Amino acid sequence: MSGPGHPGVGATAERTSRPFTGSAEDAALGLDRWRDLPRVQLPPWADMAEVASVCQVLDDVPPLVAPYEVDQLRMRLAEVCEGRAFLLQGGDCAETFADNTESHLLGNARTLLQMAVVLTYGASMPVVKVARVAGQYTKPRSALTDSSGLPAYRGDMINSLEEDAAARVADPQRMIRAYANSAAAMNMLRAYLAGGLADLHGLHDWNRDFVRASPAGERYEAIAREIDRALDFIRACGMTDNEALRTVRLYCSHEALALEYDRALTRVSDGRAYALSGHFLWVGERTRQLDHAHIDFISRIANPIGVKLGPGTGPETAIELCEKLNPDNVPGRLTFISRMGNGKVRDVLPPIVEKVHAAGAKVVWQCDPMHGNTHESSNGYKTRHFDRIVDEVLGFFEVHRGLGTHPGGIHIELTGEDVTECLGGAQGIGDLDLPGRYETACDPRLNTRQSLELALLVAEMLRE
Ligand code: PEP
Ligand code: MN
Repeated sequence: MSGPGHPGVGATAERTSRPFTGSAEDAALGLDRWRDLPRVQLPPWADMAEVASVCQVLDDVPPLVAPYEVDQLRMRLAEVCEGRAFLLQGGDCAETFADNTESHLLGNARTLLQMAVVLTYGASMPVVKVARVAGQYTKPRSALTDSSGLPAYRGDMINSLEEDAAARVADPQRMIRAYANSAAAMNMLRAYLAGGLADLHGLHDWNRDFVRASPAGERYEAIAREIDRALDFIRACGMTDNEALRTVRLYCSHEALALEYDRALTRVSDGRAYALSGHFLWVGERTRQLDHAHIDFISRIANPIGVKLGPGTGPETAIELCEKLNPDNVPGRLTFISRMGNGKVRDVLPPIVEKVHAAGAKVVWQCDPMHGNTHESSNGYKTRHFDRIVDEVLGFFEVHRGLGTHPGGIHIELTGEDVTECLGGAQGIGDLDLPGRYETACDPRLNTRQSLELALLVAEMLRE
C-alpha cells in the first residue's frame, strides 16, 4: 500500500518494487530500468503481488499491434517531420469500458476521418491519422482526491469513476480488462476501416451534410464545394476504384502512464523492443522528468513517441529530451506536443522551437490546444472555449511560420457524439447548456460539429 504519503503528483516520487522478471535480452535493452527510478503518478496499487501476477498474464497475450505497423508509423511521421505530411491525432480524454461500444468507436473514428479529409485538402499533403483509442485508459491527476474527498479517478485501467470509496481502490485486474477492451476495439476498427468506413466519397458526403446544417455553413461552403469538385475530377478520371480512396490506416495511441501495462505488452523483435500496446505512446506533462521512470521506459522502445510540453518548459529541457529520447536523431521518432494555452503559446513556444531547430534535432511539432485552455464554468463544469482552442492553433501556426519550421499537426480531445462539454462553436454552446450532455469521464471534448468546424478553420490556416 502506498499509504497516506503517496505523492502521485508533485516533486516527490516513489519507486516501483516488483522483482525483475524479464529475459537476458530484456535486461540488455534495459526494459526494466524504470523500476529503479523515481516515478510520479504511481497508481496506488494495494497489492504488488497481484500486480505481478496480472503482468505475467499480459506478458504472454497476443499484442494489439504489430512491429511493422509501428515502424510504418514512424516512417510516416518522418514525412511529417520533413514538412511533407500533417499529423491529426484525436479521441477521448479517457476511454471507458462502458463506452467502448460499436457506436462510440464508430462515431469517434468517423469524426477523425471526416476531419482528415478536410485537412488533406487544406494542407495538400497526406494526413497521418492517429486515434486516442484502444488503450487510453489511464489518467494523471493534479490532486490525490476529487471534490467529494474520494481518491481521484485515475482511468478505467486503474479504478472506477463511480463515486464510491471501494470503487476507487486501484485494482490490478483492471489492466486485463483494459487489454481485452483494447483488443476488441482494434479488432472492430480494423474490420470497419477495411469495409467502407474510410471511403473518401462517403466521408465527404457526411461533411457536406454538416456544412449544410451548420449555422456557420456559409463560411465553409466554399471549401466544401472545392472538395466536391476535386472528387468529381477524381471520378471523371476513372479513379473511383482506387484502393487508396476506400481504405485508410488509422493508428492507435495512448499515454504511457501505467508502465506495468505497457511494459508487459512490450515484445523484442530483431533485437528491438516494441511496446505493442499501441502504435504511438506519449508521456504527459506531469511525468516527463528526465531522470524518472516514464522517460526512461519510452527511451528504450522503438515506437514513435511523444512528450507533452506545458508552458513551464524551457528550451534547455527540450534539448535534453531530444538527446535522451532520440540520440540517433531519427526523423519521426519524437513528437513534441505543445500545450501552452492560447495566451502563452506565442511567447513560450518560439524559443523552444528555435533552440531545437538550431541544434538540428529532428522532431515533429504538434499542437494540443486543449490542455492549456481548461477553465471552470460559472456553474462549476470543467470546460474549454472553442475560441481559445482555435486561437492556440492559430498561435502555433504563427510561431512556425515566423521561424520557417513546419507546424506538423494537431492533437485534439473529441468525440463523435453530440455532447455539450466545450463552449462556443457555431452552435454557440454556453455555460447553461453544459449540463445537457456532459458525459466525459475526465476532460471536456469537442463534439462532432465543433471538431469539424475546427478542421475547416485549420484547413484555412494551412492554405494561407
Ligand atoms: C491528456 O492528454 O489527456 C493529458 C492529461 O495531457 P497533459 O499531460 O498534457 O496534461
Ligand atoms: Mn485530457
